[in-house]
Amino acid sequence: MRIDKLLSNCGFGSRKEVKSILKSGIVSVNGQIISDGKVHVDPTIDDIRVGSEKVEYKKFVYIMMNKPPGVISATEDDWERTVVDLLSFEYTKYNPFPVGRLDKNTVGLLLLTNDGQLAHRLLSPKKHVEKTYFAIIDGPVTEKDRIQFAKGVCLDDGYVTKPAKLTINKSELDRSEIELTITEGKFHQVKRMFEAVHKKVIFLKRLSMGSLYLDEDLPEGSYRELTAEEIQRLR
Ligand code: URA
Repeated sequence: MRIDKLLSNCGFGSRKEVKSILKSGIVSVNGQIISDGKVHVDPTIDDIRVGSEKVEYKKFVYIMMNKPPGVISATEDDWERTVVDLLSFEYTKYNPFPVGRLDKNTVGLLLLTNDGQLAHRLLSPKKHVEKTYFAIIDGPVTEKDRIQFAKGVCLDDGYVTKPAKLTINKSELDRSEIELTITEGKFHQVKRMFEAVHKKVIFLKRLSMGSLYLDEDLPEGSYRELTAEEIQRLR
């Protein structure tokens, strides 16, 4: 690919800005100064540097975030802080977007990437990708709810959900702790499923999405790149 395109893709600025970086004589390819943007390079083989900085070419970036409460799952917003606002420039330069949405106050696993095909596969209703949530529910959750969720519940708009697996970890008079695995991604689905059985979700955290599990060592609001193995398993 052309060196000006590569440098621009790697976050060194617009094509125009890259042109002036090239002109200043600080870009080298395998030790040779290059000032012509039209020169073709192979970023997988060539040693490309801007000053002493080695240019690491990545077409795609995959980031696991432990989403904190109070930020929205969007790339930009006029009023609210977004999950992309939490990322450093090292990652925002790849223009990642969140794969699916978590509500503003939902926490936990959120994948951000610029790999549109992977995102499409994970979100496609035809693929039935499992998503598991941990939730705290106001009041008791019963065996009757478990059976109802396994059959499907009727949401407020008349939609009947696909079978979902409800595991009751703790059920007490004032509050319960559960895990719920669903294979769909309807708007506010978990909250609306509990509303359908007259219960209220008071805390919601996503634990997994397909083969990807939240790294519990990641504090809320922090993130890391997926490992090569995690990416491989998702594909
Ligand atoms: N279901 C919800 O109700 N909210 C979320 O954020 C995710 C799933």
